[in-house]
Amino acid sequence: MIYLDNAATTKPDRSVMETFQKVSEDYFYNTASIHQAGRKAEALLEASRRQIKALLKVEHYDCVFTSGATESNNIAIQSVLEMKKAFGRTVLVSELEHPSVINVLEEMRGEFNVQFIKTTRDGKVDTTHLKELMTNDVIFVTVMAVNNITGSVQPLDEIKAVLADYPKAHFHTDATQAVGKININYDGIDTFSISAHKFYGVKGIGALFMKNIKNVKPVLFGGGHESNIRSGTVNLPGVTAMAKALRIAEETRDVTYQNLLSYNDKIRKEMLNLTSVEMQPNDVPHILNMSFKGAKGEVVVNALSERGIMVSTTSACASKRHSLNETLLAMKESQDVIEGSIRISFSKDTDEGETDRLIEALKSVHEELGDVLV
Ligand code: PLP
Repeated sequence: MIYLDNAATTKPDRSVMETFQKVSEDYFYNTASIHQAGRKAEALLEASRRQIKALLKVEHYDCVFTSGATESNNIAIQSVLEMKKAFGRTVLVSELEHPSVINVLEEMRGEFNVQFIKTTRDGKVDTTHLKELMTNDVIFVTVMAVNNITGSVQPLDEIKAVLADYPKAHFHTDATQAVGKININYDGIDTFSISAHKFYGVKGIGALFMKNIKNVKPVLFGGGHESNIRSGTVNLPGVTAMAKALRIAEETRDVTYQNLLSYNDKIRKEMLNLTSVEMQPNDVPHILNMSFKGAKGEVVVNALSERGIMVSTTSACASKRHSLNETLLAMKESQDVIEGSIRISFSKDTDEGETDRLIEALKSVHEELGDVLV
């Protein structure tokens, strides 16, 4: 089996699992316990927190451990809007965001004026439209770092430049698909979210980073863990495993990037020979989106699956609900491109042999679809 759905989740690295198991056994104590064993666990928790912040070069941020980016996005949005609502009611969100951003804002529409920032044809947030939408009533702007469907890198520095004239506006970034893949300059970003299983960590652990944000109102109430922002016994094995995974992702990042770039080139070249196949531009090589025009994405995914290759249509969260590909819709792609799209996503372990087998399988599916394609 060739697994190419790494934007949905990655396989935890073996050494990450070793850390997870060791800490589960040797440091199973509750980090909130005041006895010696609890303090030992707490020391490990704080060392891991420092290591994660150092790896991301965000030592000046507070870091709260959560169950993943969904929870981090929810806490950032709900807590910051609660804090800021006395100063304005307008929230600007890119159309490209993950459901864990869009859907929480949809829930808050009654109380806030939520407006979408348009998307350019190449899948980036339209900063000219952002400028037009900016007023002194804007208290929150949220734009992801890397889009999970097409692999477009969003113009965070340009957005920061626009926001520099509006100090009241909080800037949140969902960095889930960027961490461990590309370098991000976090200066000027007030809060950001990450999820460990996207970079070879285990599932159910992530973090929210916050700069100069105090008295955050919790979303979950309980024993006051994690600076009273995220109550609940801390998942210490998950946290230490996340620190390890991040180190591995960062250490292998540049080599992986170069390898994937060459595999992308090879795939693009081969696809040029196939009629009715359209490729989306991507800024990062770990996510590649293409459409078999005239076919349904699910049919292509199933045909590849039968050939032992696992890819996806949209994001894993959306594909189960059969929702439309919102990213391609925002890019104003044609119906054929939207309906026939698949997402192929690679990892540090993807190799050239797998790439060749993918290309063969894509060609064979193309041939099988024959007259269906337009
Ligand atoms: N944000 C983006 C861009 C994602 O791709 C994902 C996962 O698919 C999430 C947030 C949610 O992450 P998790 O499911 O780990 O909470």
